[in-house]
Amino acid sequence: MDAKIVLLPGDGIGPEVVAEGQKALNAVARKFEHRFTFETCLIGGCAIDATGSALPDATTAACKSSQAVLLGAVGGPKWDDPRAKTRPEAGLLKIRKELQLFANVRPVKAYDVLVDASPLKREIVEGVDILFFRELTGGIYFGESGRRPHPSGEEAFNTMIYNTAEIERITRMAARAAQGRRKKLTQVDKANVLEVSRLWREVSQRIVRDEFPDVQYEVLLVDAMAMHLISKPRSFDVIVTENLFGDILTDEGAMLPGSMGMLPSASLGSSGPGLYEPIHGSAPDIAGKGIANPLATILAAAMLLRHSLALESEARAIEAAVDNVLNAGHRTVDIAAGAKSVSTSEMGSLVVAQLEM
Ligand code: NAD
Repeated sequence: MDAKIVLLPGDGIGPEVVAEGQKALNAVARKFEHRFTFETCLIGGCAIDATGSALPDATTAACKSSQAVLLGAVGGPKWDDPRAKTRPEAGLLKIRKELQLFANVRPVKAYDVLVDASPLKREIVEGVDILFFRELTGGIYFGESGRRPHPSGEEAFNTMIYNTAEIERITRMAARAAQGRRKKLTQVDKANVLEVSRLWREVSQRIVRDEFPDVQYEVLLVDAMAMHLISKPRSFDVIVTENLFGDILTDEGAMLPGSMGMLPSASLGSSGPGLYEPIHGSAPDIAGKGIANPLATILAAAMLLRHSLALESEARAIEAAVDNVLNAGHRTVDIAAGAKSVSTSEMGSLVVAQLEM
């Protein structure tokens, strides 16, 4: 396969971890005889410094003409001034909008050998393997909002709004993913209070019943989900939910495995390139030291192969290589618990060596 992949290293540790993601993709290309062409573009703080814009037009154009985008992270203290005309995060929001990415997909997997790094007990976290689908472009973050006078001063409002089509497309995506896994889909809402949730429930129930009869479907109220996620996380396979609930639950879920440096994410649309990135930020406290954990970005590269290039065996090869490297006892400092650690590029090379076996 020939594929064009855009790299957006961004700021802080972004360039360090994206370099390792690219190394893994190159190793896959060699092993499976594909040709990946890479184009590196600016986003975030470094783009503001170079062009005045957090997402230069050239970056948008390159992404739109690619099959997939691998992003590091954006932001850092240098660009934190609240009076600044533009901020690095604006680049992220804009690229998601430009590529019409409506689903954020986040796997939460507990690695057996790292379970003791979790803030929860081993017997709760062991074996956790969840795939979150969070709707990304609708809901209360995008509905009508404003302020108006009120006898006490002011009142402010935000509107949660979804339509049938928005619910259908992400439900289908999540149900399809469940079919390839343990065939269980949990839809999270607040249907006892919110009209929007009642529409979510009707639509997603219908889609799964009519189109995915082999998928077991359950609904859970978001408040119950917040508890179940930390009391019995193993009972979930695929979870689908709207934007605000997903924002909160995916961060709660991210705490389960115990290390930010291990978790990838993907943002997908109906067609066109997907955007793949680690869930962590630019980690300015460790940037330039060569100690960042590149595994989240390497696992994001695996998601890229799976979701944008339909290269499932290649994706699994990367995931197996990461498993093997961890099982062999190799750790970056964030997951080493004080024991001996390897550098960012050594960790990347260990994964490549596993891929080449
Ligand atoms: P962060 O994720 O960058 O860092 C939190 C802590 O985790 C830090 O101690 C950091 O050293 C550590 N950490 C993160 N990734 C790591 C890795 N791969 N290996 C080892 N340790 C790692 O979050 P923060 O400190 O709140 O934010 C720093 C900057 O990143 C801010 O400017 C923020 O706006 C930005 N940010 C960007 C994104 C993104 O680009 N998607 C996401 C979150 C935060």
